[in-house]
Amino acid sequence: MNPTLPAQSPRRAAVLREMGLGPLWLLRSLDAARAEAALQARAALGFASTVNAEVFSSVTRAQPAESQASPLGPQSPPRLQQPAALPVVVTEKVAPHRDSGREQRIATLDWDGLEEEIRSCQACVLCERRKQAVPGVGDRKAQWMLVGEGPGAEEDLRGEPFVGQAGKLLDNMLAAVGLRRGEGVYIANAVKCRPPHNRTPESAEIDTCLPFLARQIELVQPRLLVALGRPAAQALLNMEVRIGAARGQLFRYRNTPVLVTYHPAYLLRNPQDKSKAWEDLCFARRTMADLPQA
Ligand code: SF4
Repeated sequence: MNPTLPAQSPRRAAVLREMGLGPLWLLRSLDAARAEAALQARAALGFASTVNAEVFSSVTRAQPAESQASPLGPQSPPRLQQPAALPVVVTEKVAPHRDSGREQRIATLDWDGLEEEIRSCQACVLCERRKQAVPGVGDRKAQWMLVGEGPGAEEDLRGEPFVGQAGKLLDNMLAAVGLRRGEGVYIANAVKCRPPHNRTPESAEIDTCLPFLARQIELVQPRLLVALGRPAAQALLNMEVRIGAARGQLFRYRNTPVLVTYHPAYLLRNPQDKSKAWEDLCFARRTMADLPQA
């Protein structure tokens, strides 16, 4: 243990345990500058006290598909992912929905009007079996905006995104990097109504719902967008996305930087990838710190 680093709080240790992350580790093969940067990033986040000198043999960008098992178990040290020069992929989402009158009207709504419109929307088939639409939740002036896929059964019942086990994990992920739901964070979904049997929303459903998400982003004006899972990433980036390949890159939605990571529900089914989500959150934190002040 490095005696110069601050002790980790019991709360943070509990949060990391909950995420399936054991003691934090460093990579022996990192060059000195990157190792130092990693230490500083961890120290800045208050996580550095449990740095372990255990090693990995190489530093490579993680590329496996979501469905592939990670070579790292949930208690294994996460591989650091800090490319020297981060590629910025510029995409410009152009909503393909053809009802431009609807889009234009939604684009002028204030918060109350927008939520009212979402709750009464019948623009796609997802309205048919929902209990209620789930607009979004959080700080309407947030710097961070997280975008998920769509409501599940519990969200459909309660009218709030990310409740239940996936929501608990998301809250722990946020807490691990010093964030809290509702404080500087706004959470929304790509589609606002629950797909039957929690199936993945169809592209057409995402496109039809997109004007709502676009308006939410415009009203919040976040500094950073985090797409949780593939449907959210595709909604924001207007292209096919594999999370395993897109992690660690910066994209752009209009003028807002976007990065992608796994959806918490996926992480519940694939806990071996929690360490990658942790890397992504650290990357998000660094990205936010590097963004020019508005
Ligand atoms: S998912 Fe979106 S577009 Fe479809 S009915 Fe619900 S609010 Fe409307």
